[in-house]
Amino acid sequence: MVFDAVSEGGHEQVSYFADPETGLQAIIAVHDTTLGPGLGGTRILDYETEDDALSDVLRLSKAMTMKAAAADLDLGGAKAVIVGDHESIKTDALLRAYGRAVEAMGGRYITSVDVNSSVPDMEVIATETEYVAGRADGLGDPSPITATGVRRGIETAVEFEYGTDSLEDVSVVVQGLGKVGSALTGQLVERGASVTVSDISQENLASIRESYDVDVVDPDAVYDESCDVFAPCAIGGVVNDETIPRLACDIVAGAANNILAERRHADALADRDIRYVPDYVINAGGLITVAEEYHGGTREDAMAKARAIGDRLETMLERADGSEMTVLDAAEAYARERIEAADRATPASFD
Ligand code: NAD
Repeated sequence: MVFDAVSEGGHEQVSYFADPETGLQAIIAVHDTTLGPGLGGTRILDYETEDDALSDVLRLSKAMTMKAAAADLDLGGAKAVIVGDHESIKTDALLRAYGRAVEAMGGRYITSVDVNSSVPDMEVIATETEYVAGRADGLGDPSPITATGVRRGIETAVEFEYGTDSLEDVSVVVQGLGKVGSALTGQLVERGASVTVSDISQENLASIRESYDVDVVDPDAVYDESCDVFAPCAIGGVVNDETIPRLACDIVAGAANNILAERRHADALADRDIRYVPDYVINAGGLITVAEEYHGGTREDAMAKARAIGDRLETMLERADGSEMTVLDAAEAYARERIEAADRATPASFD
């Protein structure tokens, strides 16, 4: 299973770490380091089987390669999983053992926060290794920076579709009013967009309505709401066989990771004349922020790079239209070409 899966995905390295004393069982997958060391979070999950853990870390690390390359970062793609229920296994001793595992990767892998791993956990890991981003004294919550990148993505797609980058009277449905969705809603309303929001949390709905004049749609009816832009900012997989026939928008562009249930849904959207803006291109603000922190940059630097997401997306939109490919195809081509060009130029160095 391991050798087949690794060669199929084109991964450079998959390392297993076990520490019986603390119960640590971790897999670190480095997908591609052509552009630089692989940066990706550590996910702590109670996987049912070892194969489930391996599949997840292989899939996630490969996605990080594309995300970093499409964001013009000099970083590769990697990810790690720690197997187990985070509430019972997460001790300082286990995190330190894991920190030693990260250190053993010798800088090919830089870790950060992910599902069930937090900023305080990074501080413990950092007692054993320098290859950590997302620190307590770092650049802080990336969500407003992520929201800015998503907003620039929406403006660029709107300009491409309607010939104006003004959001005045453009209708946007924002699904999910968490850290990113609420910040995005604010930015959109401030630019004159007509925003309808949806969340399963009554508290989050009440809080946004205190600050902004927005309409609300029931979570189950969100896919039927007629709008220019549908912006999923809650969970993945919301664009699928069941929802695509219901969508009444021109553009899908949001912050959620893995908006498409499957890759083929990009084509299904295109068949309905709905433009899908790849999530990993416009939600890269989070990755940009941790990368900036790791390289000693400032929050302003990260914000400037997140704003540039609009320019990169424009290149991809033009390429997609010029060659009748989807924007997802164009984004993948953009990322692959950056890696191939770097590969031809100089071998990566991690000194
Ligand atoms: P969050 O947990 O703060 O917010 C998620 C919100 O979605 C919550 O308000 C929750 O109540 C709501 N929600 C959950 N299920 C819903 C449903 N079925 N319908 C409507 N609302 C629902 O998360 P976040 O940090 O705002 O991130 C949002 C998405 O963007 C996630 O998919 C995340 O992986 C992705 N993302 C976030 C960042 C970042 O910087 N925070 C960066 C890149 C990608």
